[in-house]
Amino acid sequence: MSTEPCRFDDAITRAARARDWTAELRDHLQACPECRATVALVEQLGTLAAATAAAAPPPPSPHTLWLRAEYARRARVRARLDRLRTAAGLAAPLLAVVGFTAFRGAEGWARLVQAAALPSPQLAAVAVLGLAMTAWVMQVGRAN
Ligand SMILES: [Zn+2]
Repeated sequence: MSTEPCRFDDAITRAARARDWTAELRDHLQACPECRATVALVEQLGTLAAATAAAAPPPPSPHTLWLRAEYARRARVRARLDRLRTAAGLAAPLLAVVGFTAFRGAEGWARLVQAAALPSPQLAAVAVLGLAMTAWVMQVGRAN
């Protein structure tokens, strides 16, 4: 067996890739097993290349890329607003208690307790703390 390729090797390869055969190349192919192997190889490579191209996902469209970026931006804004809402939810009951105490003082609390007909200031304090805890738990639950 010769180590030199057939003299038609290049022409046969081009014809097999382009699927454009001359009568001379077709006649040679009948007589040359080496060139038939070359044609088989070119056809297998073509099949493999087509399968690879079909398996690869197409690149995303610019519209899809824009939508992804917009979704990520909105998620960041939403996360920032959630943190702000959580902080406000935690601070609001405390500010309400501090503000009421500052403007109405202990007598204000006593009047509030009487108006609410609660039996004792201690119970009123527990009720306020309970409300504050409830607001805090609801706020934390909403943030998650
Ligand atoms: Zn040949």
